[in-house]
Amino acid sequence: MSFDTLTDVDIETARADYAALLARGLALDISRGKPSSEQLDLADALLALPGPGDFKAADGTDCRNYGGLTGLTELRAIFADLLHVPTENLLALGNSSLNLMHEVVSQALHSPLPGAQRRWADEEEIVFLCPVPGYDCHFAICKRFGISMVPVPLTGHGPDMDVVEALVAADPRVKGMWCVPKYSNPTGEIYSDEVVRRLAAMPTAAPDFRLLWDDAYAVHHLTPDRREVLPVLDECASAGNPDRAMVFGSTSKITHAGSGVAFFGSSQANVSWLLDLMSKQTIGPDKINQLRHVRFFGDSAGVHAHMDRHRALMAPRFETVDMVLREEVGSLGAVSWTRPSGGYFVSLYVPDGCASVVTRLAGRAGVALPPAGSAFPGGADPRDRHIRIAPTHLPLGDLREAMYVIAVCVRLAIADATEITRAV
Ligand code: PLP
Repeated sequence: MSFDTLTDVDIETARADYAALLARGLALDISRGKPSSEQLDLADALLALPGPGDFKAADGTDCRNYGGLTGLTELRAIFADLLHVPTENLLALGNSSLNLMHEVVSQALHSPLPGAQRRWADEEEIVFLCPVPGYDCHFAICKRFGISMVPVPLTGHGPDMDVVEALVAADPRVKGMWCVPKYSNPTGEIYSDEVVRRLAAMPTAAPDFRLLWDDAYAVHHLTPDRREVLPVLDECASAGNPDRAMVFGSTSKITHAGSGVAFFGSSQANVSWLLDLMSKQTIGPDKINQLRHVRFFGDSAGVHAHMDRHRALMAPRFETVDMVLREEVGSLGAVSWTRPSGGYFVSLYVPDGCASVVTRLAGRAGVALPPAGSAFPGGADPRDRHIRIAPTHLPLGDLREAMYVIAVCVRLAIADATEITRAV
């Protein structure tokens, strides 16, 4: 991009606007995709459930007691519909899907997965494909276990499948791939049917290659159109790769983020592999919490109705982000951003080399953003141009302020770059 976009007047205005912001002493945080307190309020009925005397599951299980490693069948049935996994292949477990992903990777290092020749720990090197921009916590799991990460570009409807197919076919070290198939963190990407089919069917050099299918935003729509992604387990089974995909999900951004329920869905072989390993760790999950969620939702239509109430709170926040960016930086050709139809994030793209400057300027003006590059393996955005915005947590007025600060910082970063370009 040519930085010659701003006039001298624009540059002076950017400087003056930024100086005025510094004087205000703001303290706003849009660095993490946390639910707002109004969203948490929507699920407060949970605090009184299941209530005294209500502790029996549908099959008569006393939820107060030990046992039931798979989780409550009736809760699994509700989320089976939403995650497109048959009830018998879906486990309802602890309170965090991230914890489950960490667990599965850790277990695969220590115990051979179905179809594996050996444990991953016995391989010389393990590689995971990482569509970028992606979720920093996925990359943190890889880093923690010494798994090499290969970034793969996203196309607007999922990962670039020509790149993925070439890598997995050629290299038996490629054992896994992170996928956030719907309303991806942070691009809002929705995987197309073609992408899902190709992921399910592609030949892989590793017999124990796995898709870690993180369906964190399965029901988090921002429009009345509830977008669906092809059921990955069915596609894998039809393509002759029944054990390829492992589906993860949770109620973290549906009910109360700290005290929800997480799910693991996969083939019978993968489910049995995990259950056997888990049986050495625990007698079972918190069934009272699961019963509480069953009583709260009733059925999968109850989850959709609840998420419609979330949408009413969230859609205006995403509209605000779009509106402020349009007003403040919309005329700058080199700045663009996503308008997701679901999920928790907006990706803002600034001119190459400017993301770290914008992040630093915003921090000084009292608006916390994630570190520049954090949506890339190793925290390294090769073009230093991506910024993740998390509009959900702040009240609307504060969000408007924070977005204005970010817009001013974008203008100032471009102003500085323009002056440097002119000087050389
Ligand atoms: N997966 C993705 C893609 C996320 O964005 C998040 C949270 O931001 C999580 C997983 C965390 O899920 P959980 O709260 O179930 O651990």
